Amino acid sequence: SLFIAGSLAGLGEIYASIQRSIGASERIFEILEDQDEIQWTNSKNGKKLEGEVHFKDIEFAYPSRPDVTVLKNIDIHIPKGQKIALVGHSGAGKSTLVQLLMRFYDLQHGQILMDGEDGAQMDIRQLRSNIAIVPQEVLLFGGSIRENIAYGKPGATYDEVIDAARRANALEFIDRFPEGMDTLVGERGVKLSGGQKQRIAIARAILKDPAILVLDEATSALDSQSEVLIQEAMLELMKDRTSIVIAHRLATIQHVDKIYVLNHGEVVESGTHDELLSYPEGIYANLVKLQFNALTAKEI
Ligand code: ADP
Ligand code: MG
Repeated sequence: SLFIAGSLAGLGEIYASIQRSIGASERIFEILEDQDEIQWTNSKNGKKLEGEVHFKDIEFAYPSRPDVTVLKNIDIHIPKGQKIALVGHSGAGKSTLVQLLMRFYDLQHGQILMDGEDGAQMDIRQLRSNIAIVPQEVLLFGGSIRENIAYGKPGATYDEVIDAARRANALEFIDRFPEGMDTLVGERGVKLSGGQKQRIAIARAILKDPAILVLDEATSALDSQSEVLIQEAMLELMKDRTSIVIAHRLATIQHVDKIYVLNHGEVVESGTHDELLSYPEGIYANLVKLQFNALTAKEI
């Protein structure tokens, strides 16, 4: 199923906004870094969801700006275990959509159903305990690497932490520190690269083992070795899990079941990578062209 609608933004505009979105750390993740919030998010109350998600006829404006419609006519159904990508330029509404999933705001119109149940009616702790988020800019708290990973699952054993780190492709760099898992990070600890911090966040999410995963890819360039390791770790994390990826990289996008292109708060294109590419004038096809050219230019 594929459709294309709405006005197509110019190439230059899209490219400029890709550039602008670099380094954007999302409000949602600032909120999540609040320690109480994380404890709360990880509370073991309530049942585990299967992971089917249906954004049904969503319309939304932020309470502070009720006149500005940020999302409209959104209907995205994600069967249990499927992976989707949200793409689109900065300000299109991608982060807002995942904030609504976490219920940071109430919807003005529509519903978000999880396993057929209206998210608005669910116990909020139960809802959030079923979702893990790997943010674009990972903020670790002051403490050991082990503590940072174990946050994903209160009471996790050492072996569970090690296993999660291994699956996140993080164990190798952790073992290179003299203190290993007990290495302190944060302001008083060692300085980790962006790619290393992301792998720690992935390990944390693996340990949490949620039915629903939200991944916000880093836009800033990683070194190519980190890039491969993170890509692998992300695929491991997404396996058997409903996943919503705010995707900036072709390598990721090509692996998902369906891509949704957001533009000014609406889905303007949706389909698989190949389906969307068959519309050469589409936003997606143009994004791909731009990324490909950028890659080629870099290699020369
Ligand atoms: P994206 O993640 O695709 O870059 P966002 O969801 O962050 O887009 O933003 C969508 C729109 O909502 C933008 O116009 C942005 O300015 C606006 N917006 C985002 N957060 C808020 C907020 N807290 N209050 C008011 N407007 C906001
Ligand atoms: Mg965003």
